[in-house]
Amino acid sequence: MRISDDRYTRDRLRLDLALRFMRHEARTHTIRKWTGLTDDRIRKLYRSYLTRAPGQVARHRGKSPGQASFFVRSPRVQQEASVLASLFSLLGVVPSNVVVDHDHPVPGVARGERLCQAFEAFLMFVPRAHITFEHAVLLVNELARGEELRLGDCSVCEGLVVVDKLDVRDVRCIRCAGLQDPRA
Ligand SMILES: [Zn+2]
Repeated sequence: MRISDDRYTRDRLRLDLALRFMRHEARTHTIRKWTGLTDDRIRKLYRSYLTRAPGQVARHRGKSPGQASFFVRSPRVQQEASVLASLFSLLGVVPSNVVVDHDHPVPGVARGERLCQAFEAFLMFVPRAHITFEHAVLLVNELARGEELRLGDCSVCEGLVVVDKLDVRDVRCIRCAGLQDPRA
């Protein structure tokens, strides 16, 4: 009895997480990776979700964004990435231990829930964000992998900044570097 209860709970958590990912317009393969649900179950879930909330969500197909450089290309996006990375740190989304599986460093239901919490808080701080949920997933993976991006402290205000790992210059946040994006 206990075992089937546990299994039911685990399944319930997976489905809840999948729905939360769908609300953030995650790609099917991202949902599969983080929840462990099969494509078939995800499709059925999409169908029932879309019937209940028509026009509420866009289903994206195709590839997820995959370039770490996206986060450091413009001051505006770099600032957004830094806000999101701070929330990841607060909520323990990025693992601190060394990552073994480079392609899929961090998925898992509990971590997925924290990722959603961090992204939902991020959207409250940055209402018209350039960073989408799929970008947030990429940022978690890139920070866990640590090959192209790293977290640094601004040398002036000590705020957390997402920086290019190869960039050896003094780390400055956008505000302290005087690079406030006029479009921001
Ligand atoms: Zn600063």
